[in-house]
Amino acid sequence: MAAGERVVVVGAGVAGLTTAVILAEAGVSVHVIAEEVPGVTSLAAGAMWGPYLVEPKDKVDQWGQRSLEVFRELAEDPAAGVRLTSGIEASRTAETAPDWATTLPGFRPCEPAELPDGFTSGYRFTVPLIDMPSYLDYLLRRFRDTGGVVEQRRLTSLSDPGPASAIVNCAGLGAGNLVPDPDLRPIRGQHVVVTNPGLTEFFSEDTGLSPDLLCFYPHGDTIVLGGTAIDGEGDLASDDKAAASILARCAEVEPRLAQARVLEHRIGARPTRATVRVEEEAREGGTVVVHNYGHGGAGVTLSWGCAEETQALLSRI
Ligand SMILES: Cc1cc2nc3c(=O)[nH]c(=O)nc-3n(C[C@H](O)[C@H](O)[C@H](O)COP(=O)(O)OP(=O)(O)OC[C@H]3O[C@@H](n4cnc5c(N)ncnc54)[C@H](O)[C@@H]3O)c2cc1C
Repeated sequence: MAAGERVVVVGAGVAGLTTAVILAEAGVSVHVIAEEVPGVTSLAAGAMWGPYLVEPKDKVDQWGQRSLEVFRELAEDPAAGVRLTSGIEASRTAETAPDWATTLPGFRPCEPAELPDGFTSGYRFTVPLIDMPSYLDYLLRRFRDTGGVVEQRRLTSLSDPGPASAIVNCAGLGAGNLVPDPDLRPIRGQHVVVTNPGLTEFFSEDTGLSPDLLCFYPHGDTIVLGGTAIDGEGDLASDDKAAASILARCAEVEPRLAQARVLEHRIGARPTRATVRVEEEAREGGTVVVHNYGHGGAGVTLSWGCAEETQALLSRI
C-alpha cells in the first residue's frame, strides 16, 4: 500500500480508529465509515490493559506487548486519557498470578493485610488504565488532524463503501453480518460509572469465567465499576439488577464506593470468536479486505499490535 492510496476503514471503535491513525500518519488516504462514532462497545470498556476472553495466546502476547509499549508512551500525554496506575488483582482461592501480570512494573505478591476480607491471595502491579471516552476522542482528533474523513452511516455489505484500493474491516460484532462470520458471538458486559470518592488505585478480582465480575478503575474524578460477562447475550439495555449487584460487590471491597453518585451506565457486547481475526482476504471483484476484528474482552489491550499487523498486511498489497 503506497502513500496516496485510498483505504476505507469500516468501524470507529478502538480497532478502527487505531488502525486509521496508523495508516493516515503513514501517508495513506483513509476514509472511516461507521454507524456509531465512536463504537459503543469500545466506549463501554473499563479499560485496563490485560488479556481477557481472547485467543490465540502467542499472538495475543505479541499484540498485547506492543500495545503496552504504546500506552506507556501515551500516558505521558494528559490529552490521551491513559494513566499508569498501581493496584491489586486478588482471588478468593489460592490462585497463581496470571503470567501477563508478572512482568509488569511493581509486580509483587500482596501481604495478607493488603487484601480485602474474604480474599486469600493477590498481586500488586502497575498497568495502563484507559478512560475510553477521552481516549476515543483523542484518537478521533489525531485521525482528523491528518486530514482523515469520518463518514457516519451503516453499511449493508463490504462491497458498499465505494471505490477503494482496500477495505479494512474493523466492524467488531458487526462483522458477523458484514463478512459474514458465524463464529462471532457477543459477551455482554455492564459497567456503572460513579463519582470518585478519592480512590487512586484499581482493584480487580480474578473471577475466572464467572458472569459476575468485580473491578474498579479510577479515572480522575470518575471511577468505572464492573462488571458482567454474559456469554451469548448482545442486548444493550441497562439492567438495573445487574447494576445494583455491581455497586454492592464493589462497595463490599471498598466501602467508600457505597456513597458514590451514579453518573452513567455503560453497556457493550464483547466481539468474541475462537481467535482474533487479523488477516487479508481477496473478495469477489478483486477487492482486498484486511480483517481486524473479534478481540473479545481485550480489544483495547491488543489495539496497537493488531493495527500495526493490519498495516503490514496492507503494505504487501
Ligand atoms: C463491559 C466491557 C468491558 C471491557 N473491558 C475491557 C478492558 O478492560 N480492556 C480491554 O482491552 N478490552 C475491554 N473490553 C473489550 C473491548 O471493549 C472490545 O474488545 C473492543 O472495544 C472492540 O473494539 P472494536 O473496535 O472491534 O469494536 P466496536 O467498538 O464495537 O466498534 C465497531 C465499529 O464498527 C461499526 N460497525 C459495525 N457494523 C457496521 C456496519 N454494518 N456499518 C457501519 N459500521 C459498522 C460500529 O458502528 C463501530 O463504530 C471490554 C468490553 C466490554 C463490553
